[in-house]
Amino acid sequence: MLNLILFGPPGSGKGTQATKLAEQFGLVHISTGDLFRYEIGNDTPLGKEAKRYMDQGQLCPDTVTIGMLRAKVERHPEAGGFIFDGFPRTVAQAKALDRLLTGMNEQVDALLALEVPEDEITGRLLERGKTSGRSDDQDEAIIRNRFAVYQAETSPVYDYYDKSAKANRIDGVGSIPDILGRLVAEIEPLKQLS
Ligand code: AMP
Repeated sequence: MLNLILFGPPGSGKGTQATKLAEQFGLVHISTGDLFRYEIGNDTPLGKEAKRYMDQGQLCPDTVTIGMLRAKVERHPEAGGFIFDGFPRTVAQAKALDRLLTGMNEQVDALLALEVPEDEITGRLLERGKTSGRSDDQDEAIIRNRFAVYQAETSPVYDYYDKSAKANRIDGVGSIPDILGRLVAEIEPLKQLS
């Protein structure tokens, strides 16, 4: 199995690149943001709870997020590997992911962190908000809050994986194919090993 975390602030291009990488390397793409939006679309109790946090640019509670992620992983026993997009976003989530994979005799092979300056990100998100229908992309105050939450709660996840030399920084500025090329160059050697 090849298990990757695509990491980076909101609007850094994780979703776009994860979709392409999943196809290229035959991985199951799991986006916790997409899973929450699916629950909201179906007006489930989980969706109703998640919406309260998402509308403020806050993180959903770890227990809810981890339970949802675990259920999704367990629905794919056939997977040749996973690419996690928007998860883990806290160190508690990272530890839970490690425990889940260890229980499957697996591990996280690498965290790939897309680096994009904050000003460029705000512009990208407001642009995406015009067409995505995502209310959290249409309000600059919510976007700034998501970025602040990323710095405070999510960026320590990079250091957590850096301790085991699994964290890699990737320049996230440029065209979609150029950034994809940089990611593929990091993943190819891991693929040989996995
Ligand atoms: P995203 O689509 O990844 O930008 O996520 C949109 C929103 O969903 C976030 O701002 C959070 O409110 C929530 N969310 C997504 N993934 C997580 C996660 N791993 N932990 C907590 N909240 C999350």
